[in-house]
Amino acid sequence: RERAREVLEAAERRNTSRLGVEAMDLLSAYGIPTPAGEIVDSPGDAEAVAERLADGEGVVMKIVSPDILHKSDIGGVEVGVQPSEVADTYEDLVVRARNYQSDAKILGVQVQEMLDMDGATETIAGMNRDPQFGPLMLFGLGGIFVEVLEDTTVRVAPVSEPEAQNMVDDIESAPLLRGARGREAVDEAGIVETIQRLSQLVTDFPAILELDINPLVATPDGVSAVDVRLTID
Ligand code: ADP
Ligand code: MG
Repeated sequence: RERAREVLEAAERRNTSRLGVEAMDLLSAYGIPTPAGEIVDSPGDAEAVAERLADGEGVVMKIVSPDILHKSDIGGVEVGVQPSEVADTYEDLVVRARNYQSDAKILGVQVQEMLDMDGATETIAGMNRDPQFGPLMLFGLGGIFVEVLEDTTVRVAPVSEPEAQNMVDDIESAPLLRGARGREAVDEAGIVETIQRLSQLVTDFPAILELDINPLVATPDGVSAVDVRLTID
């Protein structure tokens, strides 16, 4: 909880109400698994981190800016970047951000471990404060499917374990998570635990007005919060 408080206070000092992947520590402070990664502010540092994190598949690089909400919409996410391409990609990401908004505040670039997406399902876990009902936890199918299929469900926070489990049961795509059509079942217990931990986080910090983990990548081996964005009071 102390570490989470530090992240939020740092944001307050920077006078920003919108946070992105720079708030990843908030999630790990509450035991939500995230890919290994670091935010750097130079091509050289990006290369050093990439050499440490890259396996054969390379790394993922993302622009980090409070002015850019949907990073891939502006070409701000590159997956499978080999260490030798990292420095050039750093410059590309910054140029694209500047083209999108010339005065965008750029905090740097996140260099992240590349997850094996074979057999993975992108889900979304989030929270929105409703004027009437208070904090509402949301779970559903994530990635590009969120808008298209709208397969999500909500519960008032805090949610108990049975309630979190019930949220997973509730979505239309639950069979997809459980290994329909020869797919391998994903770590459903990991999803349930993540919903509960997120519920605890937003209960402990009323200053968090809304928060989305999209995607929360679920694989047979576990879950991982690959992207986060939140608004604070
Ligand atoms: P945004 O939502 O701002 O466009 P994301 O960080 O969610 O940015 O990245 C967009 C997509 O890129 C994700 O939905 C996922 O499919 C893919 N992706 C992002 N990070 C990783 C990663 N570490 N490993 C594998 N795929 C990733
Ligand atoms: Mg995302």
